[in-house]
Amino acid sequence: MQKTKFLKLKLREASFISRALLSTRHPVLAHLIPMRRCNLACGYCNEYDHNSKPIDLQIVKGRLNKLADLGTSIVTISGGEPMMHPELDQIIHHIRVQGMIAGLISNGYYFTPERIKRLNKAGLEYLQISIDNVEPDEVSRKSLRVLEKKLRFLSEYADFHVNINSVIGGGIKNPDDALTVARRAVELGFSTTVGVIHDVDGTLKPLSEKEKDIFQQVKKLGNKDHARLNWFQDSIAEGKPYNWRCRAGARYLYICEEGLVHWCSQQRGYPGIPLDQYTMDDFDREYKTEKWCAPTCTLQCVHQVGILDNWRDPQKTPAQIAEEQKSGKGVGAMIGAD
Ligand code: SF4
Ligand code: SF4
Repeated sequence: MQKTKFLKLKLREASFISRALLSTRHPVLAHLIPMRRCNLACGYCNEYDHNSKPIDLQIVKGRLNKLADLGTSIVTISGGEPMMHPELDQIIHHIRVQGMIAGLISNGYYFTPERIKRLNKAGLEYLQISIDNVEPDEVSRKSLRVLEKKLRFLSEYADFHVNINSVIGGGIKNPDDALTVARRAVELGFSTTVGVIHDVDGTLKPLSEKEKDIFQQVKKLGNKDHARLNWFQDSIAEGKPYNWRCRAGARYLYICEEGLVHWCSQQRGYPGIPLDQYTMDDFDREYKTEKWCAPTCTLQCVHQVGILDNWRDPQKTPAQIAEEQKSGKGVGAMIGAD
């Protein structure tokens, strides 16, 4: 990524963070799914199918307009495999036209020099690729050996920030692979992070002693800012619950291919309200709602968004909130945010 472009991005990020600290009443990050289909079938994944069609560009643009109206700072396109969407460039471009930061999560299989140049032109700012192992196996084909050529293309042509996430847990056979992946990412000039993979039900699988050791080594190699933001992972790696306030459904939104708002990829169905009908009352209710799954949650991005508000506005259980709403005391009034 060009130095001037990188500095501009950092300035925009700083301004979005200041805005998020000053006001609690807008989403910070939204994950938007323009297609559920994926070319792979990772053994731990519950977020793909093999036959769905891409969502029409105009519908996706409408969802992006609504996210912009809500004041969203960052939109990350995810899937499935979003690179399979034939109009991904226009989607990325529309995020930028709406003044939001544009990110992408991909398995890396579709990156060619020509495709990378098109994403540069569209205005992509962040790309994250998760690599699970060095050699493909029955659990995952997101493998360093398979993706090596694609990573070299990205190193040469990408004018956006590339982060390589290695993973530990969740049935990954060789934990040492995470270290090999992280070292290669650093060699190629990318930032690197490490995540604990959630199980198919979205909950924690405790790490073995060997996995814990590798996890700490990879963290040392990685992005220092990211490591500072991810101290929850130390508890999770030890198999201990972590006490935090998940603001999913408010500061973080997950918009599925059907255009419904969910807490996150692992808690689809809650609140399950169409984005175009999502109001600040919904936002306020979810901001205030304590999430039962928070203590063992491993979703890094939602934890990072949570840090902005962890020190303020204690949450209540869904039952307490329902009771207060029944008695006519609105959640928006209770929060008194801003
Ligand atoms: S590449 Fe991503 S979306 Fe596709 S199956 Fe693997 S983890 Fe799931
Ligand atoms: S704590 Fe939040 S991000 Fe984590 S699984 Fe629950 S709803 Fe999703």
